[in-house]
This record gives sequence, structure tokens and C-alpha cells, in this order.
Amino acid sequence: MNGVVLVTGASRGIGAAVARLAGSRGYAVGVNYRNGAEEAKEVVADIRMAGSQAVAVEADVARETEVERLFAAVEAELGPLTALVANAGITGGMRRVEDIDEALVEQVLAINVTGCILCVREAVRRFSTKRGGKGGAIVTVSSIASTLGAAGEYVHYAASKGAVDSFTIGLAREVAGEGIRVNAVNPGLIKTGIHAAAGAPDRVDRLAATIPMGRGGEAIEVAETVLWLLSAAASYVTGALVPVCGGR
Ligand code: NAP
Repeated sequence: MNGVVLVTGASRGIGAAVARLAGSRGYAVGVNYRNGAEEAKEVVADIRMAGSQAVAVEADVARETEVERLFAAVEAELGPLTALVANAGITGGMRRVEDIDEALVEQVLAINVTGCILCVREAVRRFSTKRGGKGGAIVTVSSIASTLGAAGEYVHYAASKGAVDSFTIGLAREVAGEGIRVNAVNPGLIKTGIHAAAGAPDRVDRLAATIPMGRGGEAIEVAETVLWLLSAAASYVTGALVPVCGGR
């Protein structure tokens, strides 16, 4: 076995691709979801078919008690975690800033920022050699929107991913001497259901010509980068924000 990884938001899209790839590389995989119980079950079935262990656990990453329950449930089933992919995220929908309200901003920050930070905190508590842990690897799933800004689409979302970038850089330095590597991937336009959920199902095709590589990305292309960052091949990489965006 390669270790035990928890992937948040793994019922669909990038998270599901990461979970399946991790399973095929010999990780036991905790598959977190919030609403997509059926999809999460399919991801677990695929991982088991590939010969690895997996468990699906429902939890809202924005809620501290649910995050604590999630980590406990995954470890009870699969053993001590060695890696975390903090992937769960939402855009909140396409709105200009003048049209957003408190509830929207709070929801996006709660899932994308608070949820990421709470999950990473649980991982650090377990991995830190200072706390008796054996070390570990963490990948946060940010977005290239953190530097592009997503003007006219969802600046509030871009801002939440800017927070993820800062958190990743700072935490990487905080725990570098405790056996923990922390890195981010910053995907560009990736073909998942997130665009339809934001009200723009054709967004990737519509913007393909603006991408230097001339096409949207596949979830598996992000997953490959995540798995590399988790692996021993990236043993001297920490605090990195890795763009996976076709040059955007
Ligand atoms: P997606 O297809 O919409 O999937 C989102 C996943 O997050 C689902 O599994 C969903 O679970 C889960 N989720 C949402 N809220 C949650 C919560 N409160 N607690 C637990 N899980 C929750 O999105 P995606 O495109 O794969 O995006 C994954 C990550 O990549 C996000 O952080 C996103 O911001 C980032 N990203 C995506 C793109 C892109 O173009 N696709 C680009 C840059 C960055 P349920 O369905 O079970 O509710």
C-alpha cells in the first residue's frame, strides 16, 4: 500500500479523478462527498475494482464537527492517514461584484477557505512529527483564478482561492520541519460539472480559444499533478503553487 489519502469533494470532477488515480496507484482512499452519495459509491467501487481499499464518507467540510467526524471515520476504516487532498469547492455562481450579497460570500468562503483550513488542520494534527506523527503530504486545490481574478465572472471565488494560495504558502513554511509538505495546484479551465453548476455549461468550450494550448483541461490532468505532489518524487517540493492551466 502507498498510504492512506483523504480526498474531499471526491464524488465528482477533479476530486473523483484524484481519488480514482490514487486508488490505481495503491493508496487506500477516503472519498468525501456532501450530496453525491451515489457518485461517491461509484468512485469507491472503481477503486476497489482496481484492488485498493476505499470508503465513502458524507461530510460538509465547512462544519468543524463534520470535518472531525470525517477524519475519524476514514481512519477507523482505512488506518492512519498519510495524505490529504483538500479539493472540495464551489464558485457560488457567476455574478459581478455589484450583484453579490452576504449569504453568497459567506457560503463561498465557508466551503473554499474555512473548509480547506479545517481539513488541513486535522491533517497537520495527525502528520506533524512534533505531535508524534510520521509526517505526510497535503495538496490544496486552488485555482488559476487566484491570479487572473475572474473579472466579470466570479471575483468573489477568485478571492477565496487567493486565500487558499496564501494559506498553502504560509503553512508549508510553518510545518516544513515537521515532516509535512504542503503544495497547491492551480487548475485553469477544466471540464467538470462546476461550470454548469455556475450557470455556464458551455464555459470551457466558449473560452477555449483564449487558452494558449487551445483547449480545456481534463480532470485526470489535474489528478496526475496532484499525485506527483503527493509522491516521494516531489520530496523537496513544498510551498509550491503549481499551475495546471494550459498556459492561461
Ligand atoms: P465539481 O465537479 O463541482 O465537484 C465539486 C466537489 O466538491 C463535489 O464532489 C462536491 O460534492 C464537493 N463539495 C462541494 N461542497 C462541499 C462541501 N461543503 N463539503 C464537501 N464536499 C463538497 O467541481 P470541480 O471542478 O471538480 O472542482 C474541484 C476543485 O477544483 C474546487 O475546489 C474548484 O474550485 C477547483 N477548480 C476547478 C476548476 C475547473 O475548471 N473545474 C478550475 C480551477 C479550480 P457533492 O457533489 O457530493 O455535493
